[in-house]
Amino acid sequence: MERTVIVVGGGAAGLMAAVAAARSKARVILLEQNEKVGRKLAATGNGRCNFTNTQMRRDAYRGTSPDFAYGALEKVNVQETIGFFSRLGIYTVNKDGWIYPRSGQALSVIEVLLKELQYRKVKVKTREHVTEILPGKNPGQWAVKTDTWTYEGDAVILACGSKASQIPGSSEEGYRLAGQLGHNIVEPLPALVPLCCKGKSFSSWSGVRTEGSVTLCINGIPLKKETGELQLTEYGISGIPVFQISRYAVRALWEGSQVQVLLDFMPEFTPEGLAALFEERRKNCPYKSTKELLVGMFPAKLIEVLAKEEDLIQGIKEYSLEVTKAHSFESAQICSGGVDVTEISPETMESKLHKGIYFAGEMIDIDGACGGYNLQWAWSSGMVAGTMAARKEGEL
Ligand SMILES: Cc1cc2nc3c(=O)[nH]c(=O)nc-3n(C[C@H](O)[C@H](O)[C@H](O)COP(=O)(O)OP(=O)(O)OC[C@H]3O[C@@H](n4cnc5c(N)ncnc54)[C@H](O)[C@@H]3O)c2cc1C
Repeated sequence: MERTVIVVGGGAAGLMAAVAAARSKARVILLEQNEKVGRKLAATGNGRCNFTNTQMRRDAYRGTSPDFAYGALEKVNVQETIGFFSRLGIYTVNKDGWIYPRSGQALSVIEVLLKELQYRKVKVKTREHVTEILPGKNPGQWAVKTDTWTYEGDAVILACGSKASQIPGSSEEGYRLAGQLGHNIVEPLPALVPLCCKGKSFSSWSGVRTEGSVTLCINGIPLKKETGELQLTEYGISGIPVFQISRYAVRALWEGSQVQVLLDFMPEFTPEGLAALFEERRKNCPYKSTKELLVGMFPAKLIEVLAKEEDLIQGIKEYSLEVTKAHSFESAQICSGGVDVTEISPETMESKLHKGIYFAGEMIDIDGACGGYNLQWAWSSGMVAGTMAARKEGEL
């Protein structure tokens, strides 16, 4: 008899899990509380869906035990993911390793997944809010309760995502369902998020975008450095390099540590090199004030801020800010934290507490760097969970 697999959540991980389970010959029911599947997926990469990355950063995956992620990521790697989507019809473009559909539309990714689900006869039920997961009527089965119905299945895959972003469906629901089943939840915190900083008057630099680097220091010790386009805002700092360090900053604040960032507005120069550059600029234009010497190097608003620094070179190379908090969950792209990975098998994504319960995607305590890594995690963990949940007793 074929197994019945119930997938809770129709985001990236749930859609992939449903495809995988159906391809492995299970009868699959996918339950999504929104009126449509893939609401968050549709918003990814500014609507263009940066769905994976061919460059594996050393710190691409983070969490209490980041190595956990490589169980699924090695089973379903980037090349396999690109192959999977190209066979479904997604022609890809590669922008410095960041992979997008050539259509430039995340909606195409949703469309091909839905088409595959339809072809595989998966029952996609939207507006179905799962409230509880209980042992089923028959031994070894599970009952999935929604506001209106109870579904019975041999396996349940929880792929409920996180509470990051304002997109409908982003909530703590997944953590609650996992918690009801006795799973420990590592405190979810906003990640890939702008940072609020203390003190200086930021209204003067608000709106500036400039190349630079940001070094994160925890209790005075440098921990991470990222380079790219910094965005200076009325509350502090944003932009991709800030997103990349944000999960470490937010978790350190939550743990009560002192968090500081050092901005380098000219990372291509050493302090000595920069001093020599100013020397030369002064020689060329001895009639210019310090502020005027900065024209051509930095945007005007940033010059106003830097010119106030007592030591100009230090101001440019090590502009120090104290981080006070992250922006809200609503403005975060993802959450760090989630279901404790010590209670999940990395090989199968099955709960170690309950046979037949599986997890996939962002609701697990694994978070990726910005650049397609979070969707890759959703695809890999979803594919493994779906395939394994469809296995009959005794099958590998
Ligand atoms: C603005 C934005 C841009 C992003 N851009 C990128 C990018 O370019 N590349 C990248 O790799 N990552 C990106 N991310 C992150 C990425 O979107 C997520 O990590 C990924 O979508 C997580 O997939 P998921 O399936 O685990 O969760 P989700 O996509 O959040 O799906 C979970 C689903 O479960 C449903 N659900 C929850 N609880 C229940 C319940 N009780 N009953 C029924 N249904 C339920 C929700 O409604 C939701 O549809 C971005 C995120 C945001 C917010």
